[in-house]
Amino acid sequence: MSKSPLERTVQLERLSSPEVAQAAKDAQGIVIIPVGAVEVHGPHLPVGTDTAETYAIALRAGEAAGVPTTPPIWFGNSRMFLDFPGTLSVRPEVLKEFIKDVALSLIRHGFDKVIVLDGHGGNYGILDLLVEELHLETQALACHVRAWELATLPKPAGTPDYDGHGGSSETSAMLALSPVDVDPAQFVDAAPEVELTRLGAVFPSPSGLLSKGPVTIALSMGEMTALGHQGAPRFASAERGEALLRVKVEALVEFIEAIKGGRLAWRGRPKVEPGGGE
Ligand SMILES: [Zn+2]
Repeated sequence: MSKSPLERTVQLERLSSPEVAQAAKDAQGIVIIPVGAVEVHGPHLPVGTDTAETYAIALRAGEAAGVPTTPPIWFGNSRMFLDFPGTLSVRPEVLKEFIKDVALSLIRHGFDKVIVLDGHGGNYGILDLLVEELHLETQALACHVRAWELATLPKPAGTPDYDGHGGSSETSAMLALSPVDVDPAQFVDAAPEVELTRLGAVFPSPSGLLSKGPVTIALSMGEMTALGHQGAPRFASAERGEALLRVKVEALVEFIEAIKGGRLAWRGRPKVEPGGGE
């Protein structure tokens, strides 16, 4: 049997068209679309942090599980972060339609199991809607996988509980992936400057601390923080970053193996009788 093109690379854009057709077969129709964001992450991290992390997880999981990944969707819905330079936001409706077109192109040529790997909380609602539409309109398996929920590790002792956006975990991941882009001289502890009742939650959620309860109050990042991050980056380390990436990759590979092994199952769509209408 000849070698699968996926043994050379899982980056879809580096394959020829016939190789992509072969890759769809070899990967049992599974493909990953990584979606990130370009937005402020405090003074110490690059604005491309979310996309860098998400794409790294996608490529590593793709290599381990033998599935191709598309080029990353660099931009996300970052409207709440537009108070800060370098935040490049795409309107939710445009983002959803853009990714939908990419997914439909893949589905057309044999990728009937689409994993949208999400690396940014602001994309959350949009990508849930997207996978709902994709599945109901095409019957493809459409999954919205949130990288930040895939798996995690305990935080170092002393890490404040407000540690979240641009905090120790994201800083750790970037120290592992691209240390030259991280500036430890700019590490600042930043607590959210918000006061809420016990019912209050804010979106975007800076951390679990403020996301509990029945009420969501929309605020911009500039209304909550001076520097565009919330957390304590000084607790970051490249070692923890590598470990975090590893457990997330392992969890994603486990999910892909479950799809490949036929371990996802449901009843199937009921047949509509002729004349029965919708
Ligand atoms: Zn981020």
